[in-house]
Amino acid sequence: MEKIVSLCKRRGFIFQSSEIYGGINGFWDYGPLGAELKRNVKELWWKSMTKMREDIVGLDASIIMHPTVWKASGHLDTFADPMVDCLLTKKRFRADQIEPQSGVAYFWSGAKDEASSKESSEPFSALLAPGKPAESARKVAIQFYTQRGLQNVALLGERTEKIENTTQYNPENGALLTEPRMFNLMFKSHAGPVESDENVVYLRPETAQAIFVQFKNVLETSRQKVPFGIAQIGKAFRNEINPRNYTFRSREFEQMELEFFIKPDDVVEKQCGTVATLSENGAPTDPPQANWGWEVWHSYWVEQRMRWYESIGLSRDTLEQYWQKKEELAHYARACVDILYKFPFGTQELEGIAARGNFDLTQHQTHSGKSMEYFDQEASAKYVPHVIEPSAGVDRLLLALICNAYDEEEVTDEKGKMEVRTVMRFHPRVAPIKVGVFPLLRNKPALVEKALEVRDLLRPFMNVFYDDGGAIGRRYRRQDEAGTPFGVTIDFDTIGENGSALEGTVTLRFRDSMKQERVKISDLLSILLPQVQ
Ligand code: ATP
Repeated sequence: MEKIVSLCKRRGFIFQSSEIYGGINGFWDYGPLGAELKRNVKELWWKSMTKMREDIVGLDASIIMHPTVWKASGHLDTFADPMVDCLLTKKRFRADQIEPQSGVAYFWSGAKDEASSKESSEPFSALLAPGKPAESARKVAIQFYTQRGLQNVALLGERTEKIENTTQYNPENGALLTEPRMFNLMFKSHAGPVESDENVVYLRPETAQAIFVQFKNVLETSRQKVPFGIAQIGKAFRNEINPRNYTFRSREFEQMELEFFIKPDDVVEKQCGTVATLSENGAPTDPPQANWGWEVWHSYWVEQRMRWYESIGLSRDTLEQYWQKKEELAHYARACVDILYKFPFGTQELEGIAARGNFDLTQHQTHSGKSMEYFDQEASAKYVPHVIEPSAGVDRLLLALICNAYDEEEVTDEKGKMEVRTVMRFHPRVAPIKVGVFPLLRNKPALVEKALEVRDLLRPFMNVFYDDGGAIGRRYRRQDEAGTPFGVTIDFDTIGENGSALEGTVTLRFRDSMKQERVKISDLLSILLPQVQ
């Protein structure tokens, strides 16, 4: 991770937000290369969801919505994580993210100040990790009582106990943690000039709710029929207790969410006579069938999403599926699958795909008093549609793509010297820059002129980087680090200085194999375009 973080900063993929002021925990900025990567990922998701399908339309809703939205969705009452504080440093952790530890727990009933005979009867405990001297636990306790106003601390009533797999102690210093308390993750603000309770608003913690709230408007204006979906990409905010693992858990992030509305199983049965169940031939694929029930639709979307990840360079062996167990599901959910990526810091969630029944639309129907029912002409039935929700995080996906792309290999340079080549092996579809264009020498006007011509030929169709600085080998290496899949070099053959046979041709270099081919300038677009689109 250290190497990846350093490359991201050095090459301008990711910067700490407000870095010159010391940064702000849980917020990140994307530099020139990161911004391109992010745009490509979002564009590819949007294209696969809306442009390549008849049955999904888009939405771009406001971040701040009527506060009742969050009452109806359950976020106001339940969008909370159990949280614990370190009794010594006050550092806050998510209770469910503390690694279990074993060791000897030291307990004290209190302490007294030997100089002033002041006493504290507050009990305290610290965990001593195996192999550490007892004094280090006592040191933590002395710090604790010093913070409570004692000076020459004498610890009272010490006793010890061997403990296995406890999550009650701060893994960083062994100090006892508070009991878990619930903490609402929504950022609160006020709309308008008065900071009163009536004006409280929230920054959305997910993009999905706007889709439910606008369900009727979209349905009426888009001429869609159930089954159909609404897709949205946008910012979401969560006041995470413990932002960590680089951009993986941030406080401001972007989501790509689809709500795919389907008929309830009883309506499918009425209309088709049967409801298709999952066959043994693997996941259902296109085209969807009228007799699919929620279970088939859910599996279909899991498979669609896996295929999409493959199409942008995350092969199946880098991903895992976690099917939540019955007891882990939210009360309204029928199934939920997490798609996980094997990050260097552990295998973690990229996307959740949930079958949510008709919970959300029904909640908004109840709280708004507006009907969310749909009249299905084909089935001659009226119902609140059910929903399958594939919900992905843009930033987590970017981090996965960056981790997946990072590679180091030993190569020999022109002079036969071994060197380490750092190369970002992005799939050409997501690569921030698609092609580097290089005149062999910058002080030969004919080369420069031709190179600019090639740049201008490609530029309307893909992101091109023109570079005329330094030895050509060095320019290739710079683009390897940026993850640019193709390089085009304009040399003396191109401009016909070595005869007419190779005039109008360039060297096309491939980032991954470092192979070079001679191709005609007039063929460049038809070679490159299918690979980067
Ligand atoms: P986690 O359990 O990791 O907190 P979650 O299950 O609460 O995530 P969802 O509410 O299902 O996440 O959100 C859908 C997607 O949004 C996640 O799969 C993830 O990609 C992204 N996401 C959620 N929280 C964050 C965050 N704090 N930072 C970056 N991305 C996030």
